Amino acid sequence: MSQYWSPAVRELTPYVPGEQPRERVIKLNTNENPYPPAPGVSEALRDYAIDHLRLYPDPTSMALRVALADTYGVSVEETFVGNGSDEVLAFAFQAFFCHDAPLDVPTVTYSFYPVYANLYGVTLRKHPLNAMWEVDIDALAKASERSGVIFANPNAPTGHAHPLEAIESLLERVTDRVVLVDEAYVDFGAESAVSLISRYPNLLVTGTFSKSRSLAGLRLGYAIGSKELIDGLQRVKDSFNSYPVDSLASLVGIAALKDKAHFNACRDNVITTRERTRQRLETLGFEVLPSKANFVLAQHPEFDGAQLFAGLRERGILVRYFNTDTLSNFLRITIGTDNEMDSLIEALEALCR
Ligand SMILES: *Cc1c(COP(=O)(O)O)cnc(C)c1O
Repeated sequence: MSQYWSPAVRELTPYVPGEQPRERVIKLNTNENPYPPAPGVSEALRDYAIDHLRLYPDPTSMALRVALADTYGVSVEETFVGNGSDEVLAFAFQAFFCHDAPLDVPTVTYSFYPVYANLYGVTLRKHPLNAMWEVDIDALAKASERSGVIFANPNAPTGHAHPLEAIESLLERVTDRVVLVDEAYVDFGAESAVSLISRYPNLLVTGTFSKSRSLAGLRLGYAIGSKELIDGLQRVKDSFNSYPVDSLASLVGIAALKDKAHFNACRDNVITTRERTRQRLETLGFEVLPSKANFVLAQHPEFDGAQLFAGLRERGILVRYFNTDTLSNFLRITIGTDNEMDSLIEALEALCR
């Protein structure tokens, strides 16, 4: 606490990201992709004329948005890009959720939402997951007098994804405010709601290059929605930072979007390894929630989550442990390469004896 901090800053509870270790470890704690970015990315970087760094980038990020629009079958006016989807989410909070009414959110979801709510003075109304650990769509739809609805699909850190019909049934009932569906993990086997944006002008879908496109170090995220919503995001962006996406990031993002074969191959590998890992964890006695993401959430009925986390850490394997009431016995395990998952299973075999 410092005398120089504003009252608002004193009240903040910042997001705590999973650790980025310096020493060599098996890193299964922040849902990064274990495979390298598309080969076209190195080419793009190699061919980049360094002199371009003298110039400010295009404030509208047009070339990247054209590539994004092509990829998702929408128009450029329906796309927005930012410095990581965390930034896009922050803009969305400011653009759409700063009303007097509460924002409807599941109790268990991406833990950055409460942080932004706190930062922007948005009240949350939290809805418990159903008995299957799924986002309770009916509960979200039933609430009224709201500033909006936000959740991740697939949800984090459970991995469960609702099918398109469920998202649509929510949109049929919530028409007055923005429904934000965070699709950070959608590429690992879930259905995207992007196809619904033409029919639901209040639907905003966000996504990221960090997970399925192996570019977490680049900081590139996007939103897709009606022109009305994109204009709202742009107003916030242009009141905060005219150039959130630098020229290198643009170039690399475009190269990554171009290579569909590499994208599909990496995604298929992650999905195959995820299912294999799930089976092997179940053989060890773990209860593993079905996942459409690049991680699984698992708990052992006989062994304490905090202790397993610590035991893995001692063996050089980092997973994510959430010290909350609902999740205190669970480990969230990112899907790495097959070799990394072999090491994980080996370590858990030793720990669960
Ligand atoms: C990783 C993640 C993000 C943030 O992605 P960045 O583009 O790296 O900022 C957003 N939402 C969810 C649910 C995530 O898991």
